[in-house]
Amino acid sequence: MKYLTDTIAAISTAVSPSGIGIVRMSGADSFAIADAIYKGKKNKRLSEQASHTIHYGFIMDGDETLDEVLVMLMRGPKSYTGEDTVEINCHGGIYVVKKVLELLIAKGARPAEPGEFTKRAFLNGRMDLSQAEAVGDIITAENEYALQSSVSQLKGNVRNKITDIRNEIIYHTAFIETALDDPEHISVDGYGDRLREVVETLLSSLDALIDSADNGRIIKEGVKTVIIGKPNAGKSSLLNALMGEERAIVTSIAGTTRDALEEHISLGGISLNIIDTAGIRDTADIIEKIGVDKAKGYLDEADLVLYVIDASVPLDENDDRIMEMIRDKKTIALLNKSDLPMIVTGADFEGKLAKMPTIVLSAKENLGLDTLEKQIKEMFFAGNLSFNDEIYITNVRQKQELKTAKNALLKVLESIDLGMPEDFYSIDLMDAYEALGNITGEAVGEDLVNEIFGKFCMGK
Ligand code: GDP
Repeated sequence: MKYLTDTIAAISTAVSPSGIGIVRMSGADSFAIADAIYKGKKNKRLSEQASHTIHYGFIMDGDETLDEVLVMLMRGPKSYTGEDTVEINCHGGIYVVKKVLELLIAKGARPAEPGEFTKRAFLNGRMDLSQAEAVGDIITAENEYALQSSVSQLKGNVRNKITDIRNEIIYHTAFIETALDDPEHISVDGYGDRLREVVETLLSSLDALIDSADNGRIIKEGVKTVIIGKPNAGKSSLLNALMGEERAIVTSIAGTTRDALEEHISLGGISLNIIDTAGIRDTADIIEKIGVDKAKGYLDEADLVLYVIDASVPLDENDDRIMEMIRDKKTIALLNKSDLPMIVTGADFEGKLAKMPTIVLSAKENLGLDTLEKQIKEMFFAGNLSFNDEIYITNVRQKQELKTAKNALLKVLESIDLGMPEDFYSIDLMDAYEALGNITGEAVGEDLVNEIFGKFCMGK
């Protein structure tokens, strides 16, 4: 892979007025460039200072003082990128950090591409690809669980798991190859049966990882939630109560929420992407009908359905239609308007919907929302998520590679069952080995690396 060792620089903090702004520089000339623009007490040279130290001084543009700064030095290979790195902590004005960056470039640094510091960390072996991707995920994490999952991946949990599986695969491939080269001393008689057991175990590990990606997506992107119910049941009111502010228009005329609103809310550490749909009822109104059809579309995609019922009026045929529509979905029934005399109870749903938890609620009085939060957590994360021993694949690319590896291993089983010659096994074993290697970044191509790091922020 083409690898540049020139010195790169970028503003690493957000470019907006703030307390501090950090300009980062990495590469062989970092210390020399820093020396050229830094003035400390007693004319000390940064390049002569110990690694991992911080120095107070000034950034000079010729005779002119640009800013008062703290400069952090990290000598390669013990730095984030593995190269000599300098971080300049300036006062956080947009103009001043830009001037400092320009000065570094004038003295020989090159503006870094997005993610180039982390790309160098990867290329210099400071982290594998799954860890580098975790860095990106930490930056974009929007909730507690997404953060924990990414940190676990950064610590190397995904890498370790994948490496274990690959080691097992390479051991058996090597055995087959050696045996085929030296048939007089090593016999492969009955080896297929032994390999079958190994491959089956590996497949169950891969399946567990692939399955974890469902939770992984929910962790990362949030639970796709659809609110459904008859007009006037209190769907918009529920959304407002969950958001803690009046955003959806709440009226008492049936059928006013004609299209859908999508809102993102954080509920005790998990994100919900909520769509409030048009009320479902048999209608001749064309616009309203479009809304109802759309609602059906959203339902197909939903991870969770919140079925809002106006418990102060009896169930009717519209509720039957709704229950028919959500028959196969993970649903929580919300008996709303519990502040009024309740006519509908959980018993009315007996046998109508399989295993649907029912919660008594009042969107108007903010009652029952805690119970709803608890219920959602239980449904998706069965109690507490543990990020110590369990791995959640939150990355679509990684999931795809896992599937490729799985298919290759299934082919190995097929070859064993068909009694194919042993060299067939090793071809497919190697395919699985390579696909898994793409997760950790062994021998990945330049294009993929550029694509992955191109999505990073500037200065990371
Ligand atoms: P939607 O059509 O399902 O979105 O229903 P809305 O949220 O617009 O509510 C319809 C009417 O029911 C409004 O007048 C709300 O104020 C009222 N409402 C909603 N939730 C409650 C509740 O928990 N208790 C009572 N008493 N009224 C409610």
